[in-house]
Amino acid sequence: MRLENLTKRYPGNPMPAVDNVSMEIKAGEIVIFVGPSGCGKSTTLKMINRLIEPTSGRIRINDEDVTDMDPVKLRRKIGYAIQASGLFPHMTVAENIALVPKMAGWPRTRVRDRVEEMLDLVGLDPREFHGRYPRQLSGGQQQRVGVARALAADPPVLLMDEPFGAVDPITRDHLQDELIRLQHELRKTIVFVTHDFDEAIKLGDRIAVLRERSHIAQFDTPEAILTN
Ligand code: ADP
Ligand code: ADP
Repeated sequence: MRLENLTKRYPGNPMPAVDNVSMEIKAGEIVIFVGPSGCGKSTTLKMINRLIEPTSGRIRINDEDVTDMDPVKLRRKIGYAIQASGLFPHMTVAENIALVPKMAGWPRTRVRDRVEEMLDLVGLDPREFHGRYPRQLSGGQQQRVGVARALAADPPVLLMDEPFGAVDPITRDHLQDELIRLQHELRKTIVFVTHDFDEAIKLGDRIAVLRERSHIAQFDTPEAILTN
């Protein structure tokens, strides 16, 4: 995935929130964004999946320019998991996970199988969790379902905005291990935002250290960053 001169100005603010960011993220790589609160990490992720429109710049996935792609189509290419899990409270676990595959027009039986497969993948027993509502889950379970939903349509790119931030340390450690395993198995291209440097070192193939307006201060392997 390639970000080309990506810029976002929010209305009413003369300073861009993200200023002219360019970066190449290899297929199958986990890139971690670390940086202070307010430096534009979330804004960058939201531009990639077009929850917000870039002011200027282009986004390419596997050489395809997706900057103007229909957002519904884009959902099949990009999975998105966030700290608050973002689950729809009025939908069951199964309905939440099935959402994007359904929108993509998958046949019903395939969607049903996929929901089970995703729950297994994140370590939740489908028989137990299928019909629950988000409020009937612990924080860690909600985040697992959020990750399952992000992966359901098998998108090549996964954006994760502090997806484990609200989870207790033991569950977080477990989810991190699962993510590493998943990435090795499924070769997703992952952009992962965290302010936890230990998490960045553990998960990242490369770490992008961002300053204000998402200016890239460093972009290198954990080893290289630790020795600098
Ligand atoms: P981070 O994720 O690194 O904490 P954000 O991307 O959330 O940073 O925010 C980057 C900058 O953009 C901040 O200065 C923030 O105040 C501003 N910002 C974020 N969302 C909006 C918005 N909807 N309207 C105006 N300014 C915003
Ligand atoms: P945590 O340790 O993350 O705070 P909780 O105490 O919220 O977890 O939940 C403990 C267990 O009880 C979890 O397996 C959760 O799924 C289950 N649980 C919590 N609330 C409900 C509910 N309203 N209905 C059914 N199961 C629930």
